[in-house]
Amino acid sequence: MNQKSKKSKTNPVSLVNKQKPNPVTKQKRMTASFEIFNPATLTKIGELPLYTAEMVEEKILLAKQAQIIWSAKSLRERAKELILFRKFLANNKEEMISCICNETGKTKMDALLEVFTTLESIDYVANKGIKILASEKRSGGLMIQKKCYVNYHAHGVVGVISPWNYPLILSVTPIMNALMAGNTVVIKPSEVTPYTTLKALEFFQRAGLTNGILQVVTGKEIAGAALVNSPNTNMICFTGSTATGKIIAEACGKMLKPVVLELGGKDPMIVFKDADLRRAVRGALWGGFANAGQTCISVERVYVEKAIYNEFISLLKEEYGKIKQGSKEEFPSVGSMTLPRQVEIVESHYKDAKAKGAFFVAGGKRILAEKGLFHEPAIVIGVNHEMKIMSEETFGPEISVMEFNSEEEAIYLANNSEYGLSASIWTSDSTRAKSIAQKIQAGSICINDVVANYMISDLPFGGFKKSGLGRVHGKEGLRAYAQIQAVTINRWFWRFSDELWWFPYSKKIYSYVSRAVKFLFG
Ligand code: ADP
Repeated sequence: MNQKSKKSKTNPVSLVNKQKPNPVTKQKRMTASFEIFNPATLTKIGELPLYTAEMVEEKILLAKQAQIIWSAKSLRERAKELILFRKFLANNKEEMISCICNETGKTKMDALLEVFTTLESIDYVANKGIKILASEKRSGGLMIQKKCYVNYHAHGVVGVISPWNYPLILSVTPIMNALMAGNTVVIKPSEVTPYTTLKALEFFQRAGLTNGILQVVTGKEIAGAALVNSPNTNMICFTGSTATGKIIAEACGKMLKPVVLELGGKDPMIVFKDADLRRAVRGALWGGFANAGQTCISVERVYVEKAIYNEFISLLKEEYGKIKQGSKEEFPSVGSMTLPRQVEIVESHYKDAKAKGAFFVAGGKRILAEKGLFHEPAIVIGVNHEMKIMSEETFGPEISVMEFNSEEEAIYLANNSEYGLSASIWTSDSTRAKSIAQKIQAGSICINDVVANYMISDLPFGGFKKSGLGRVHGKEGLRAYAQIQAVTINRWFWRFSDELWWFPYSKKIYSYVSRAVKFLFG
């Protein structure tokens, strides 16, 4: 853990909003800070405090205090506040979009889509959450003398650790789910893109949500680890790399702390010869290059049936020619990448692929004319599973295309990965597509589409294999933020009766129960 020490001279939050007080409080006590850059221009945006473990703990205790008041509110009252935030975000979306673009280098359209998906998710949580988290009747089964139901209790304080690729949705979605279930939240946004989360906190304050229910800490792994290891956080939600996810899962395991992990992916796209080829091609390009390919469910491996392989590649080239990349003033389709380290990973995958015989049909070069982290979207062919580009998460504007001969081979190739986040199947035969979906090891499947599953809030999202643990979105995601309590109660006619299996035991009772067991289950 190598946090650089630096004197904090400016109030960095004021760079985001000059009128508002700094949401990162007690600035005067901060001794160390880190810098944040705009990746499209490589200019410095600001500096923020590197929270120490002690400083993180102070925020956790504030959230713990606020949780007493917050959890006492009804689901309806909580929903009302979430809607306040939704409205505020929708009405001030340009302010948020500019903040997102500034620190990620993504296009305005990608940022707008992020805002849209976030709003849709808040709406789902607030509206459907009232029913999903309400007490729910369950069957007593054979015990007709019992009434049963389930309660959903808050965990307490939820620690959220969020990444840099979608700094709004991957922060706000866990926050909203956690709050709706009666928890309060301490979030540590990525050190690369912290201002979006600070802007969300500012929106909380400006929209008039209950004070203290959201706390933000800034910094790097020390601050993240402090959230995970604190005895006062009761659940962790982490989105990021599989490597860091494993460290966090291990730490949570030792404390028996519930954890939701949204990790990496290497999503396959299977295109059969009866697919709508133009749509498949355009889906592959958008799914691979949107957000500069820095999406956990971006298309990275494209498997195309041999009979249409050549046609697919020539259509890819044709459609590729329509894609514009550049700075936000040009309103491009592809923006800059976000993280210098990610650029290095992408380049190392290209180098490895070229050395092993792959070649580029289009793109793949660093655009040196631009100042920022711009990398031409790439289409790579001649690839195989021995190459990093087909086995490790590339997380850049790239798709690799390989041909297959049979359905069995396509399924084998798609499943031949340590990841299992999402996959897409392209064919006009929907019966076949549904049957193949059953055989693909991935948490989400899109048929004749890509990425759309994430934009649908009722669908649970999460991975098989090394892509994660647990689910976000849908009722599964919302209930992950609650502890489940089962309640059993005697019906009125049973209030004063003993149960058959209570003391004293006797041969006669044993014989009754024994006969009943045989009658019911034998
Ligand atoms: P990336 O390399 O793409 O930034 P990471 O998985 O390393 O992805 O980081 C995602 C988030 O996890 C960031 O907010 C980062 O600061 C945080 N983080 C990194 N290491 C740890 C750790 N050991 N414990 C808790 N959080 C961590």
